[in-house]
Formats: sequence, C-alpha cells, structure tokens
Amino acid sequence: MKTITVLSGKGGVGKSTVTASLSVMLANDNKMVAVDCDADAPNLALVLGLEDDDFDSWESLTTGEKIQLSEEKCKSLKFCPKCQGLQKCVDACKYSAITWNQEKDLPEINDLLCVGCGACVLACPVEALTLKKVENGRIGVGQTRYGFPIVSGQLKIGESGSGKVVNELRKKASEIAEDIQADYMILDAAAGIGCPVIASVRGSDYVILVTEPTPVAFWDLSRAIELVDHFNIPCGAVINRCGINRDFTYQLQDYFRDNDIPLLGTIPYDIRFVEALVNLKPAVIYEPNFKKVFEEIMDNCLLDMKNIF
Ligand code: SF4
Ligand code: SF4
Repeated sequence: MKTITVLSGKGGVGKSTVTASLSVMLANDNKMVAVDCDADAPNLALVLGLEDDDFDSWESLTTGEKIQLSEEKCKSLKFCPKCQGLQKCVDACKYSAITWNQEKDLPEINDLLCVGCGACVLACPVEALTLKKVENGRIGVGQTRYGFPIVSGQLKIGESGSGKVVNELRKKASEIAEDIQADYMILDAAAGIGCPVIASVRGSDYVILVTEPTPVAFWDLSRAIELVDHFNIPCGAVINRCGINRDFTYQLQDYFRDNDIPLLGTIPYDIRFVEALVNLKPAVIYEPNFKKVFEEIMDNCLLDMKNIF
C-alpha cells in the first residue's frame, strides 16, 4: 500500500476539494482509505457528503495530558529549601498555565492553557505535579457513498495534542487498510507546518502540494516544501484557481520546473467548485466535466510514483 498526503501550507487553497475528488477518482480502480488529518478543523468527510451522524462509529481518544497538583506535597515546600518561595513551577511554565494564588499560597492551574509539556513536573523538587491522561478528541470511521471508507479525527475544544490525534488516525486507518487490502491511503493534512502536519507527512510515500497563484499561498507552500524536503519525500504540485492570476501562475510553473517538482496539473477558477461544496459533493461528482482535470492530476501522480518506486 502507498500513502499519499495532500498538503498546502496555507489553508483555504482547496486542499480538501482536491483530496475528495482525487479519492473518488482513485477509488474507481483501487481499494483505498481516506483520512482527514485536520483534527482542529476537519471537513473532508463533509466534502464527501458525510455528516457526524452518518459515521458508523466514534471512539474517544485519551492522548492528551494535563497537569495535576498534589496540594499536600506542594505545601511541604516550606520544608524544602529548593523551592521555598521560588514558585519554580510558575517560572517553568511558558504557557502561563500556572499562576500563584496568594490567598491559598499555592500554585493554581488553568487547564485550558496547559498543553501537557511536562516542564513544571521537571521543575518541581517535591514531585507535587504529575501529568494525567485526559480525553482530548475522538476518531470516527464511516463509509462514503463512493465506495471507500473515511477515518476522521476531531480534537475537543480547548484541548491540545493534534499531532498525537493524527498518529492515532493513521493507526486506525492502517488497520482498516489491512482489512480491505487497500492499494492507497490518502491523507488530507492540516494547514501550516506544525505537529499535525508533521505527523501526516512523516512516513508518507508521496506528497501532493496544492497551492493557488497568490504570493501568500506561495510563501506558505515554500515552507511546506522545506518540510517535505526535510523528510526526503517525493512530491508533485497542483495549482488551483489558475484563472485568478495568470502571471503568477506562470511564475509558479517556473518555480516548480526550476526546483524539479513535477506539476501534476492545474485546476481552473470556476464557481462550480463552490457550488459542489455548498451541495456537499466532490467536484467530480457535482460536475462530471471536471473528471478530466482530476484524471490528469491522478495519472501524473501515479506515473511519478511508478517512476520512483
Ligand atoms: S505541563 Fe507544561 S503547560 Fe502544563 S502547566 Fe506544566 S509547564 Fe505549563
Ligand atoms: S514547584 Fe512544586 S513545590 Fe514548588 S510551588 Fe510548584 S508545585 Fe509547589
């Protein structure tokens, strides 16, 4: 099985639109699993017409960690020359999740700000702080009407650990892929270049970079390319909404050529892509004329992969 990750750097350039239509095209002749790795703002399932209630199952995740204080142990600090009056945990927390409660003469933890980094645990000389596992999200498995399953993750509001959620999503998707003997797993990564994106890209066989002809999208894409290069993963590019800036489209084409990144295809700017989203349908289903566009992207991607592997 080959794993393909769709990545953009910038949000809103049409990554999920591309992933959904490519998934539908790929599923015509292959067994595959789609994974929405944007646990902060998942929407691939919606683009494929699946709402939360349409999923076959949801299971909760406890990959998050929050800090827990033992007041008893902390109070023993008056006997502890290392911490007395120093409030080491307050200084250690770079997320301002610990403040000093003058009234109680104890540290106070703000759960919403704690990201579970563990720095305060190391700083505390009397082991008054420990990390406890907390429920931070959920994973859903559903069957799309286009003949392939989707695995989607949702981070709970105010919780951290989206990278860990993506790791769990990939584990669940791998189990399903093994069951159905999938040929491909296609991952829709989050925007940016942070933990959830790294967790999506790492271990992928190929990356499809989606961008649009604007300087902002190009800037974010160049950071995403650095990330892909770091992991030494082959990639190809797709330029979405070509019509919005022809000159910049040519500049992008030059950039990809100069940097040996194959241009897998271009997608025109067309109001019917928006209409497809409004109707919760992949673009290739909403407007069958788009099939040619995505067929070209898919064929070029599979050809490039064939040449590499
Ligand atoms: S675990 Fe990290 S973020 Fe949470 S309170 Fe401790 S230092 Fe702050
Ligand atoms: S570092 Fe430990 S002992 Fe010192 S104030 Fe914080 S919790 Fe209490």
